Amino acid sequence: MDRVVYLDNNATTQVAPEVVEEMLPYFSKLYGNPSSMYQFGGSVAKKLKEARCKVAELIGAEPEEIVFTSCGTESDNTAIWAALQSYPEKRHIITTKVEHPAVLNYCKFWENQGWQVTYLPVDELGRLDLELLKEKITSATAIVSIMTANNETGVIFPVEKIAEIVKSKGSIFHTDAVQAVGKIPIDMKHNHIDLLSFSGHKLHAPKGIGVLYIRKGVKFQPLIIGGHQEQNRRGGTENTPYIIGLGKAAELAKNYLSEENTRVKFLRDKLEQGIIERIPHIKINGDREARLPNTLNISFAYVEGEAILLLLDREGICASSGSACTSGSLEPSHVLRSMGINYNYIHGSIRFSLSRYTKEEEIDYVLDRLPVIINHLRNLSPYKAQE
Ligand code: PLP
Repeated sequence: MDRVVYLDNNATTQVAPEVVEEMLPYFSKLYGNPSSMYQFGGSVAKKLKEARCKVAELIGAEPEEIVFTSCGTESDNTAIWAALQSYPEKRHIITTKVEHPAVLNYCKFWENQGWQVTYLPVDELGRLDLELLKEKITSATAIVSIMTANNETGVIFPVEKIAEIVKSKGSIFHTDAVQAVGKIPIDMKHNHIDLLSFSGHKLHAPKGIGVLYIRKGVKFQPLIIGGHQEQNRRGGTENTPYIIGLGKAAELAKNYLSEENTRVKFLRDKLEQGIIERIPHIKINGDREARLPNTLNISFAYVEGEAILLLLDREGICASSGSACTSGSLEPSHVLRSMGINYNYIHGSIRFSLSRYTKEEEIDYVLDRLPVIINHLRNLSPYKAQE
């Protein structure tokens, strides 16, 4: 294929060339084990320490509060596991109906084991009712796990306010910040979040490396038990090239944060406005104010999202319908269903997610091709749109 316009950065991102370069020596020449006593391992340990500092700096944490894991899913599972094991007398979990399966399915697992789980609803813009959250937290609530930003709609939850509420009620607060870190500012010095997860492959590091932030003093039990790595909080020889790559990616993300909120947001808004002007019978999904700067979730009435994706793909345009993990299933997304999106719209939903590598000419290209595709599909549709 000649042209690839990649607008699926909430699924995964291109590894930054600077990150690849930083990692390469640690696959070949510098392969030592950072736990070894000799200098050959020690030089790797030194580099690992630097990477930990850079990752901590991105979110305003202390280096000792960072635990490297294998992915966002492991970080999410570990956070919930740690709270349930640390407070075995508390058998209640609170989460939301719109979490990623890494939290949602793990909570369902514990529900099947006999724990009580409250799944908070969202309104039609994907927002939470914080009064309802307050009502639901009891002395039996071990953990509240609520994402920072939604992977499908980009809707941002007020996690700092939520953390205050949860803290005042004496429970542990975890947030899945996989879609937020590197896109919006996060400063752990100025909030009460106890545990926070994120993942390398959403911020231009490779797949297979994640982070769990654990605030100093928060009770913890490891999920992966083995050696003394990560200060006994996650067994297993450190994935040194990937950790070093993530360190570089974190440094870059910090430098690019303002661009994410200006240039990337400008391009997302241009795409959104261009679609609104060119295509009738559409609906922007989610709160347009409290939203990630790179994400646009949009429904086209009277057409199937999968058909749109297929025709976009023929033009070299990569987007997504629902989350990447659940696409392949014809069930409409659980996030849009929770928001009560109308039947005519829910099946024709597409997510475009941009990155620092997105170019304006690519947005112009999508705005040129998409109206033709939608028009073509609507002409074939039995529910042809009424002008
Ligand atoms: N949480 C959210 C919000 C996500 O978007 C994803 C991935 O799409 C994950 C968790 C899982 O992260 P990983 O793929 O690193 O396991």
